Amino acid sequence: MLDFTPPSSVERVALRINPCKTCQPVGAMYAALGVHGCMPLSHGSQGCASYHRTVLSRHFKEPAIAVSSSFTEGASVFGGGSNIKTGVKNVFDIYKPDIIAVHTTCLSETIGDDVRSFIQEMTVPDGKHVVHANTPSYVGSHVTGYYNMMCGFINYLSASTGQSNGRVAVFPGWMNPGDLRELRSLLESLSLDFVMFPDQSGVMDSPLLGHYDMYPDGGTTIPEIVSLGDCRTALGLGDVISTEPCRALERKCKVPHRVLPYPIGVENTDDFVMEAASLSGIGSIPPCVERERGQLIDIMVDSHQNYAGKTAAVFGDPDTVLGLMSFVLELGMTPIYSVTGTPSEKFEAEAEKLLKKHGAEGCRAKSNADLFELHQWIKRERVDVLIGTTYGKQIAKAEDIPFVRAGFPVLDRYVHSYMPIVGYKGAMRLVEMIANALMEYRDRTCADEDLEIVM
Ligand code: SF4
Repeated sequence: MLDFTPPSSVERVALRINPCKTCQPVGAMYAALGVHGCMPLSHGSQGCASYHRTVLSRHFKEPAIAVSSSFTEGASVFGGGSNIKTGVKNVFDIYKPDIIAVHTTCLSETIGDDVRSFIQEMTVPDGKHVVHANTPSYVGSHVTGYYNMMCGFINYLSASTGQSNGRVAVFPGWMNPGDLRELRSLLESLSLDFVMFPDQSGVMDSPLLGHYDMYPDGGTTIPEIVSLGDCRTALGLGDVISTEPCRALERKCKVPHRVLPYPIGVENTDDFVMEAASLSGIGSIPPCVERERGQLIDIMVDSHQNYAGKTAAVFGDPDTVLGLMSFVLELGMTPIYSVTGTPSEKFEAEAEKLLKKHGAEGCRAKSNADLFELHQWIKRERVDVLIGTTYGKQIAKAEDIPFVRAGFPVLDRYVHSYMPIVGYKGAMRLVEMIANALMEYRDRTCADEDLEIVM
């Protein structure tokens, strides 16, 4: 399908081919689904809302609830004030959420709808809430939409009483429910008293119990979001995705913060564990966590012969790519190409720092890039493994490269969103996926006399 991608590339400014990102409202919707009893409302046309829901439902294999203010020609010309006010009333009457999280779309942003004013003019039932975030999709990406919606919740709801609650606000960034459960389990092992925001576990991985629950048990509750303002500190994960929400909380409620990389791989997880242990004051790392780390190192040593001299291309969301790059380097491979579609100078600077630290030379890391360009680079110099979202499968097929699916979205496999890639357990799973991809390729392409039973 992509066999005819030309190897030579030209610098493109106003054209993306096979983008490595999706639109801001997708991120805003996913952030809102991490709040208990929340109904996301897409302020724009029904088509936008359908698309955002579809992407999330295809990745998580779960219904992603959302409503739309259903722009027609009239709203497109005169503004969507009347639509959103009627829509919010109907949603509270019919679907009975605790809170509605409104995000804008390209259309409502282009018209210039003042959503904050619309919300001030609405009649919101007692005890219910409406928050909003501006998420124009012609800037940023779903990652930008995600942190904009987090800032929306913080700006509307979080409040400081002047009395610390002694807890730590943990902003995990964009993660699968399996990752969130793994983070939670590590933090609980380290005896940290924390509030995780947002938290899609229990919402986007809810079980099939024979009845449909529009608002499953999971998600950060509204009182918990309010209480973020009384936390003693905030721990953000992912420089690109979590810095803005940390700053928003600091601006509003004077909560200091620290941002760490996603805990993907050994060193990043070590940093996360040590920070959480120091915040909890636990003194020493519990044996269960030490055991997991030791098992990971053992697995890495056992399988090390597969990685020496191997090269990788990693693509996806900026913080996920940085974490995967770090782990690929720890395994002894070189991530010669690292690409994210999200525009981010921070990504390029962090990637360069990481490559320098590991003495990796001849590597390219680019933000605001696309998969067409990544494919062109691969055409010129092949890699041994491709790691990223489902959208890499066409490149993997055209070039016959072992392919490991990680990040968002993964649309063509099951169970992945239940399984972590963060923490020591997540790194074990990454070893399994990367080593298996390399070994299966060797089995498939080697001469019959070289086919090994014991590898
Ligand atoms: S019009 Fe804008 S907000 Fe709607 S789906 Fe397209 S990019 Fe996303």
